Amino acid sequence: MKSVAIIGGGITGLTAAFRLKEKGFTVVLYEASERVGGVIQSIRKDGFLAEFGPNTILETSQVITQLVKDLGLAPRRLETDPRAGERYLVRDKKTVALPDSPLAFFKTRLFSTSTKLRLFIEPFISCAPADLDEPLSEFVLRRLGREFLDYAINPMVAGVYAGDPTRLSVRHAFPKLWALEQRYGSMILGQILGARERKRRGGVSKANAPKFSFDNGLSVLVETLQARLGNSVRLASPAHRVTRKNGRWTVTAQTVNGETQAAYDAVVLAAPAYKLAELDIQASQRVDLSVLREIYYPPVASIVLGYRRADVSHPCLGFGMLIPEVEKCNSLGVIFSSALFPNRAPEGHITLTCYIGGARAPGLVALDNDKLFALAGQDIATVLGATRPPVFQHLTKYNKAIPQYNVGYGRFKAVMSDAEAQAPGLFFAGHYRDGISLGDSLVSGHEIANRIHEAFIL
Ligand SMILES: Cc1cc2nc3c(=O)[nH]c(=O)nc-3n(C[C@H](O)[C@H](O)[C@H](O)COP(=O)(O)OP(=O)(O)OC[C@H]3O[C@@H](n4cnc5c(N)ncnc54)[C@H](O)[C@@H]3O)c2cc1C
Repeated sequence: MKSVAIIGGGITGLTAAFRLKEKGFTVVLYEASERVGGVIQSIRKDGFLAEFGPNTILETSQVITQLVKDLGLAPRRLETDPRAGERYLVRDKKTVALPDSPLAFFKTRLFSTSTKLRLFIEPFISCAPADLDEPLSEFVLRRLGREFLDYAINPMVAGVYAGDPTRLSVRHAFPKLWALEQRYGSMILGQILGARERKRRGGVSKANAPKFSFDNGLSVLVETLQARLGNSVRLASPAHRVTRKNGRWTVTAQTVNGETQAAYDAVVLAAPAYKLAELDIQASQRVDLSVLREIYYPPVASIVLGYRRADVSHPCLGFGMLIPEVEKCNSLGVIFSSALFPNRAPEGHITLTCYIGGARAPGLVALDNDKLFALAGQDIATVLGATRPPVFQHLTKYNKAIPQYNVGYGRFKAVMSDAEAQAPGLFFAGHYRDGISLGDSLVSGHEIANRIHEAFIL
């Protein structure tokens, strides 16, 4: 029986381990911390449910649907409220509904008439050369103009990447958008024609994909995976050395009882990139991943606040609000968590999850917790009309939150592909390679299990 070591017990590593076990491999999953799940963690306290990091899974692939079913979690799955499709942007410190149709776009007060009319010339703007690695901001300025960058793209990338559009690469961070321009010569035409093609294929766009969670939050998913993996999971066991000898890989990990070593046929690297950079990897020659520490992971504070319903004038229905940088607020955005799913707040209360920091304002995350609670509360008072302080608060600081697929990211991907070619049996998977969302990571774990299965033709 072939064996695989997995380094990292976030959703990528857990999914890979579960699928590999199913396929008949012996699996050992090394997790550095005392719990699995990585950035996914939920707690229920005082009747509120707080998600530390991600709030929802975007169901962009059947792989996600199938994993939930195979784990027996379909009955515990919660779909977002039908109004979750409604999103807000902040303009002049007030929420404005994000237009959800061409007609709504032409009526919205979010954009001036000249920005709206620019859409008509977008299909005639020439395409960038295929080998250009262009920042997202320049791509948008070239095609749609400044107001669209400031009031649509800047808040959108704050919501997805906690990122900065002047540094994110359109090609690496938004490959579908890049491909629309390359293929159709226009984003607008590409959206229309791409949607038709997708319909024929039966695919779903990110904008229309269902979003879901579980009755007790996203922790349900990682706890169930851990239970299914049983004693394959080694907690508090950071791996630090991986050595290839006689066609097998020896993984050395630190545990409370000292160093452990075991040999495997393959190794999956599913820890964050800056942790992979620290690994001592020896194959026929040294596999040097130190450059991966240059991948920028900005810090993010995730702040969950519970209010009495009567103390907030805004209805807080829909997905939440995104805040453009030009609005000069403290937060990147706020998710209306208790409007998305039932049981996220006690009767007569609401739960709001606010994100601060990111590439926009990394320094803020170093402030002490009370100051951060105050900054989040200030935005909620100003924009959502909270008249009294919250009755519940919970804060998580991620010092390195989300990898930024910035301009030049291609060289990091090349290091991973070269290492896989140079050292057969070494596999890279996760948020630093295959997309940053929870769904992307889950699919990445699933696909790496397929690749390993094919490589060993069990
Ligand atoms: C604040 C925040 C909000 C987010 N919100 C959303 C959202 O709403 N929707 C969405 O789709 N996505 C969201 N994401 C992104 C998504 O949650 C992550 O991209 C995804 O969960 C990453 O999973 P992963 O397994 O690849 O990595 P991680 O979760 O980072 O897991 C990596 C694991 O490796 C372990 N490890 C590190 N070093 C070692 C070592 N040497 N040996 C063994 N183990 C090691 C770590 O302890 C960790 O458990 C959010 C992310 C953050 C930070």
